[in-house]
Amino acid sequence: MSRRRIVTIDGPAGVGKSTVSRMTAVELGFTYLDTGAMYRTVGFYMSEQGVALDDRAGIAARIAEVEMELLPAADENSDTRVILCGRDVSGEIRTQEMSMVASQVSSIPAVRAFLTEMQRRYGEKENIVAEGRDMGTVVFPMAAWKFFLDASPEVRTRRRFDQLEERGDLVDFDNLLAQTLERDYQDSHRDIAPLVPAGDAVIISTDAVDAAGVTAQIINRVLGNSF
Ligand code: C5P
Repeated sequence: MSRRRIVTIDGPAGVGKSTVSRMTAVELGFTYLDTGAMYRTVGFYMSEQGVALDDRAGIAARIAEVEMELLPAADENSDTRVILCGRDVSGEIRTQEMSMVASQVSSIPAVRAFLTEMQRRYGEKENIVAEGRDMGTVVFPMAAWKFFLDASPEVRTRRRFDQLEERGDLVDFDNLLAQTLERDYQDSHRDIAPLVPAGDAVIISTDAVDAAGVTAQIINRVLGNSF
């Protein structure tokens, strides 16, 4: 793997990773890589094809069918756009249902191997800010700058709630809190690439700091250390 400039930003659901990663990428002039979108797209594809989500062998057998292309967001407030087998599925993959589906398929080794390879190809081509769960631990262990964002489950659920509401996806707060905890548990306890901070990651609490503040901390670290 070549040694491109890579910033990794990992952390649990709703911690503010996407906004911070996007802002960091803009500030540095790097490409933003949203790896959650990739897991969502695989989950969406398998659901649409009628493959049962607990049919791990069936999903593994069909993973190579997933042709996806990530395109930059339309503007700095929107998410990465995704083209799946020629069709724009950008909105469909962002529902709360797809968050849970993504978490389920993400524990399948063949899915992780397929997406890890795709992610590394991006890292070989350009300088990136890679956002996800295992960017600093598994996909880019040699990254020069690693960050792990964290916040309390209540704060994270509130952020996610507001985001979903803005998109018209109305959910019950307590239900969402339960699902956030369930997703964190699944993501942290799977056998491969569990959600844990890399040993050399800088841990940033986002409980009381907004996205601009967190981004400023990251930029300071990156610029203060080796450009
Ligand atoms: O970040 P986002 O909420 O879009 O991620 C959706 C799901 O995809 C996560 O809950 C997690 O299960 C999975 N994921 C992963 N590894 C990544 C990124 C996302 O397992 N690098």
